[in-house]
Amino acid sequence: MSQAAPERHETDLLIIGAGPAGLYGAYYAGFRGQRVALMDSLPEAGGQVAALYPEKQIFDVAGFPAIKGQDLVDNLVAQAGQHEPRYFLGHRAEELVHHEDGEHITVRSHKGAEVQCRAVIITGGIGTFSPRPLPDAEEFEGRGLMYFVPRLEVLRDLDVLIVGGGDSAFDWAMNLEDIARSITLIHRRERFRAHERTVEHVLASSVDVRTKTEVARIIGADAPASDDRTAIKGVEIFHNESDEREILEVQAVVAALGFKADLGPLKEWGVQLERRKILVDTRMTTGVDRVFAAGDITTYDGKVDLISVGFGEAATAVNNAVTTIDPSARLFPGHSSDQA
Ligand SMILES: Cc1cc2nc3c(=O)[nH]c(=O)nc-3n(C[C@H](O)[C@H](O)[C@H](O)COP(=O)(O)OP(=O)(O)OC[C@H]3O[C@@H](n4cnc5c(N)ncnc54)[C@H](O)[C@@H]3O)c2cc1C
Repeated sequence: MSQAAPERHETDLLIIGAGPAGLYGAYYAGFRGQRVALMDSLPEAGGQVAALYPEKQIFDVAGFPAIKGQDLVDNLVAQAGQHEPRYFLGHRAEELVHHEDGEHITVRSHKGAEVQCRAVIITGGIGTFSPRPLPDAEEFEGRGLMYFVPRLEVLRDLDVLIVGGGDSAFDWAMNLEDIARSITLIHRRERFRAHERTVEHVLASSVDVRTKTEVARIIGADAPASDDRTAIKGVEIFHNESDEREILEVQAVVAALGFKADLGPLKEWGVQLERRKILVDTRMTTGVDRVFAAGDITTYDGKVDLISVGFGEAATAVNNAVTTIDPSARLFPGHSSDQA
């Protein structure tokens, strides 16, 4: 059987990382008349916001007194969409090669897609990230066991076990309180790492919180499950000092055990790294010809890792990249409000 040829694409600007900084950069690239492509190892755009806290309210994005994480991502995707960026989602950028003409770069993904461009902006955040898995539970992943909750509604009227003692575990517990039928939260330690106010809220709620308690095993449904809401019929938990065991009747498990982040291949691209971040100057250059960076992945004296800071850096990176692609172009883009 013949295999499909790897995808090849040509564009002006390639942005690696479709988090808030990358998505805003894609809008800006289009505003500057550039063709733009976005590559991200995750299957969905939105970076940390979409993957880790889509249902949380964010209060410090300029112009929005409060906005839900996923709504911010949807707005960014719509704003970038005006310029029809080409998305390579589910593609981890692996290799960056400069052409001999000194004016082009090709980036290859782990799936073999090749994007030829004239400048690259790395908006890779904390790198590629994956959840710390619950041991021996692979068979239930996506079938009742989840590492983050894509939409609260998927857990409506279910009995839910949340595992973990950090912010995510407590945030899910708080947000699911009026949606799930019942919630039990277990944590293997005595003390929680979550924000004090959230812990207080959850402890005062109907959520059954147990410490020094861990998962022994997930118990699958007796008959083959007709849907993902019925694949789990319970979880055996145990107290890690007394070894007292109990079976909880739950249909869903949210394992909020944290994420592993890895800069991975970006480390090999010759950019100057300082504490796992890319050192940039005021133009957002990285020291590698035609390669810029913006967002959480960058560092410099006084750097603050925030969405709003990443937006500003993305605009700076794109405008400077444009003057590299076309040295006769002006750095200042003009005002978007002057567009016809
Ligand atoms: C629970 C939580 C709450 C937060 N609350 C707030 C808040 O209220 N306000 C605020 O301002 N900030 C908040 N933050 C921080 C905020 O989410 C980050 O500052 C922001 O997401 C950074 O955006 P970014 O685009 O730079 O990177 P990211 O959002 O990290 O996106 C980077 C993307 O790059 C991709 N990537 C990395 N390496 C590669 C590769 N080699 N190939 C392809 N793709 C790659 C990743 O998959 C990821 O999608 C919060 C963070 C967390 C975890």
